[in-house]
This record gives sequence, structure tokens and C-alpha cells, in this order.
Amino acid sequence: MTAQATQAEDYAVVIGLETHVQLETDTKIFCGCSTDQADAEPNSNVCPVCLGLPGALPVLNEAAVEAAVKVGKAIEADIPEQTRFHRKNYYYPDLPKNFQITQYDAPICQDGELEIRIDDERRAIGIERAHLEEDPGSLQHVGGSIDAADYTLVNYNRAGTPLLEIVTDPDFRSPDQVRAFLSKLEEVLEYLGVFDSQRDGSLRVDANISLVPESIVEADGTISPEALEEADPNRTEVKNISSHKAAEKALSYEVTRQRNALQRGRAVEQETRHWDESRGITVSMRSKEEEKDYRYFREADLPPLQVSHWKDEIPIPELPDARRERFREEYGLSSEAASKLTSTKQVADFFEAVAEEFDPDTAATWVADELLGELNYRDMEITDVDDRLDEFRRLIELVAGDEITAKNARETVLRTMLDEGEEPDAVVEAEGLGKTDADAVATAVEEAIDENPDAVEDYYDGENGAINFLVGQVMQKTGGSADPGDVNRMLREALDD
Ligand SMILES: [Zn+2]
Repeated sequence: MTAQATQAEDYAVVIGLETHVQLETDTKIFCGCSTDQADAEPNSNVCPVCLGLPGALPVLNEAAVEAAVKVGKAIEADIPEQTRFHRKNYYYPDLPKNFQITQYDAPICQDGELEIRIDDERRAIGIERAHLEEDPGSLQHVGGSIDAADYTLVNYNRAGTPLLEIVTDPDFRSPDQVRAFLSKLEEVLEYLGVFDSQRDGSLRVDANISLVPESIVEADGTISPEALEEADPNRTEVKNISSHKAAEKALSYEVTRQRNALQRGRAVEQETRHWDESRGITVSMRSKEEEKDYRYFREADLPPLQVSHWKDEIPIPELPDARRERFREEYGLSSEAASKLTSTKQVADFFEAVAEEFDPDTAATWVADELLGELNYRDMEITDVDDRLDEFRRLIELVAGDEITAKNARETVLRTMLDEGEEPDAVVEAEGLGKTDADAVATAVEEAIDENPDAVEDYYDGENGAINFLVGQVMQKTGGSADPGDVNRMLREALDD
């Protein structure tokens, strides 16, 4: 580390995030309209409240507050005695009442943190606050991008969807840490059952990014707030990031852009930039509003909300890291298997239900390797089959009870179960996969030897391929239901006799 930051390598990256996540509730945050926009006609899930018509009054949705409290507990945040709402005033066509109801000086969560892990390095990312607000409507520019569009369509179905805005401290030192954080955040939110990552636009990120002299970074990678204030770097805010991958790409682009500017002796403009996904670059937008431009004032239509006791009354499930650790200890799983089996809460629940009946290794192999592999191949999720737990257990039971071979279970029964929706016993019956009894196999072995004298002679001459040929003959006679290892052994015994 050098005292003078004169070269490109001497700059460290400082990134902070504002992440907007849509909370998964049935109805909107201040009215009874459905939040389900998947198949809704434009402007069909609307009412006077979410359209911002004069005189309409908001009523707070308890489920949205509960979801926020759960997140607060999961990130170990302080949840105050009382929380309240403010109006953030600005004009934009997606916001018909000209203000957004949000939280300002008394957010529902403060001072939390979330630990990320990259390879073996752990890092705690501070979370300054998380507050509730309403999503605006959505705009669709027709005939070109925002400036070149012929006209713009407005859809208010999204208006009023509950959002939690999670604001981190400027604790990220690289774009890949941001990506790890967003993955971790999504995982935790999904475990809590308050978020659906598959929903379009359910996670949107704005990132503040600047470069500072490397010399102010402490040995553990942190920067003290005082040092950062003193360095006072110009920062850009990058908007319109909608996925983990986009976050990493947009921020990597921005690091390079700022580094090049500094290297050439130019200042970095303090500005808002827009991530253009299709071109893979950030472009300058309007200058950033100052906080005072929003003229925040108290939302008089919503009384302050006492939330301190909610924290104790609302339980949260075991979180992914804790569950991973327990899977390793309780079931003796490898780190890799434990990670796979806790990738979602539903996968973990499914595994534990299977492990109740079988030993953990068997359960882990069938769930992590076979089932998840086949689901993945079909673009299916565990939630597509979690009501078929009993059938899946029956499949394993058939193998464990030596009624079908593992190979047939994997390659025929499981696949047919998934493709055709059949029950395992029905597949076994229809395909004739029940293991042939020992007598029938013995008969087939005798027949194969009698019918193939050339192969038998080759076997005695020491030709390696001969035994495989004979095994193939027996398998054909038994319709593939014999165990190839057994057949091989029986053939050798008969021939060597
Ligand atoms: Zn409504």
C-alpha cells in the first residue's frame, strides 16, 4: 500500500446498494387489489387507492409489515418501538398521485447485517436500513427506448405492490461481492417465504460506486466512515439493474470506466447512470435529485404503527446457513451435498422428509443427485413434485427392497414418473421391470450358454469381450430386469465349473 494514490492499481472500489425487493403478499400494500400480475390485463388490478384518485385512503396491509419484520429478524436488525410512513414527492407518469408512500426517519428495520461467503472468505455486509414502500406502476416505451419512443403505455397493475428497500453500508470492495450478496439475500428472502425470485422485476438494484485511494482501506478490507468522508470521492449511482448477473456486469463496467477516467487525470462526474443491458454499458441520465427535492413529509393518512411486540410474535424458519451446518452435522453430509440440499427451503424440506424413512446417504443420493438432476434437465423445480413425496419414497423403497435395479429406477421409473406423471409401481408393472427371480435368471444363463457356443469358446480362449456378449444375451432374455453384476457372476460360475 502506498500513501499516494497516483496509479490505477492504487484505487479501491467502494460500492453500496439500494435493493428493492417485492414482498410476496396476496394483495397490495395499501389496498385490496391483487398483486398477481402474471396473466392480468393491463390496468385491471387497480382501484381508487392504487390509482391515486382524490379522496382515496390507504389501509396498511398487515402481511407486508409481517414480511418486513421477518426480514428484519433474519438480518438481525433493530426493529423500533414505532415505525411510520412519509410521502416522497415527485412527478412521474408511473406515480399518479405525485407522491410515493415510503418510510423516512423511522424505517421498520435498522442496523442489520448479512454475511456473504466467497470461496472460504466470509464478509459481513452492513445493512443500514430496510423500509417499506409502494411500487410505482410500470411504463412500456413503444417504438424505441425512453427518448426515442413514439409513445409510452402505462400499466398501474404493479402500483402499490409492497416493496422493501434494503440499503447497505458501502461495504462492497468488488462487483463479485455484490453478486454474492444478492444471491444470499434472495436465498434468505425465499426461505422466509416473503419473496419469489421467479416473478419478473421482483428484485431491482441501484448501486452507488466510487473509487478511493487504496491507502484508506484497513487490513480487513473495511473503510472507516470517517476515512470515507474525508476521501469524499465523486460517486455515480447506477440504476436499472435487475439481476445478480447484471449487477456484476454493470459494476465491473463502471469500475473500469471510473478507473480509466482517474488514470487519465480526469474527474469522475457525480451523476446517475443507467445500465443499458442490451449494450452492456452505463449511460449518463438526468442529474441526481437531492433529498430536499423530494420534500418528504409525514403521511397523515396512516397513523404511526407500534411494531416492537411483533418481533417476538412472528416466528422465522431456520435460515439457510444454519440449516446447511445442521445437515452436515446431523446427517453427516459433505459440504457440497449439504449446499445442494439446502439450495431452497423446499428442497431441504423434501430431503428431510425422505431422510425420515431412509438412511441419510441414500436419501441424499436420491434427492441431490438423481431427483434434482432429472428436474434440472426438465427445467422443473422441487415445487413441481413436492406433493409426490410418497411416490418418490416408494421408488427408493423398491430399490432398497431389491425389487428393481437402481439403474432401472433411475433411468426408467423416475424419468417416466416425471414425464408421464405415473406412479412408480405402475411404471414397474407396465415396463416389466420387477427383478426376475433367481430361477428365471439361471435358466436364461443356461440358454445363453447353449445358444452361443462361439462366444463360449472365445471365453475359454481368454477373449475379454465374450463374457460381456453373454451378459447382454441374458439381459435381453430377462428384459433388462436382471442385475448385470449377478448375471456376470452366474455366467462365470457356470462356465468355469
Ligand atoms: Zn388498488
